[in-house]
Amino acid sequence: MQPDPKRPTGLAALRARAAAARARGASRAADDRAHRLLDAYLATAEAHGRPAREVIADMARGETAWQIALALRDQALAQPPAIVQNAACAEGCAFCCILEGGDGGTITEAEATRLHTALAPLAGQPDGRAWHSDACPALDPATRRCRAYDARPMICRSFLSTDAAACEANAAGGTAGGAGLLGTHVDYLAVHALIRETLKGTARVATYSLARTAAAAIDGTGLAESLDAARQPPKALETACRDLTRAGAGKPAARV
Ligand code: SF4
Ligand code: SF4
Repeated sequence: MQPDPKRPTGLAALRARAAAARARGASRAADDRAHRLLDAYLATAEAHGRPAREVIADMARGETAWQIALALRDQALAQPPAIVQNAACAEGCAFCCILEGGDGGTITEAEATRLHTALAPLAGQPDGRAWHSDACPALDPATRRCRAYDARPMICRSFLSTDAAACEANAAGGTAGGAGLLGTHVDYLAVHALIRETLKGTARVATYSLARTAAAAIDGTGLAESLDAARQPPKALETACRDLTRAGAGKPAARV
């Protein structure tokens, strides 16, 4: 009997359901790549005999997309493209950590949890907002270094620029070029969006605001309450995918 793709009970059924799903907001090309990447991940999990319940939990939390994106990023950086070779990024250069609009970008539950865990011990200390009102609370206001560097989300690991002066101008509302996200970030979001559709009715796949997660941790709010406060509306992931895909067609997003 063929597995019912609407009720994944094992990894074969999950693969069938993923094949029939669509990464909302992603371009056709990004959706195609997300399908290939997720299917390869699930095939490997199946070959290793991983329990479906464990795999579904990793998918829902964002660990699956994280592992896929890290592998892609390592591949991309093994032969760095020009934007990486010419990057102006340096420690203490933090104009990209000034987060317009109070949201700061879309992160997964796994990223939000890691960020909160790294920042919670710093609760009550002066944070990035003492330097700039829109800065990420994870920032040290004196040194402008990220105080959650090892736990920083993928969006922070993917952003770079060839022109720090342009970043400073953009942080003040400018539209200078030279900055962008590695193309692997498109794949990261598209895989997570595909996972959300794959797990619909099986597990919740939420996303969170980077800035609100960091602020809640620094304010001393516990993890569960912080996640509640930082949870984004359901459309946020789709919108992030769409915006990034559009930006990728020109500037500032950089494809690797
Ligand atoms: S992206 Fe811009 S602001 Fe951020 S570290 Fe690189 S040059 Fe500096
Ligand atoms: S988590 Fe760290 S790298 Fe990311 S925006 Fe905040 S301060 Fe910057």
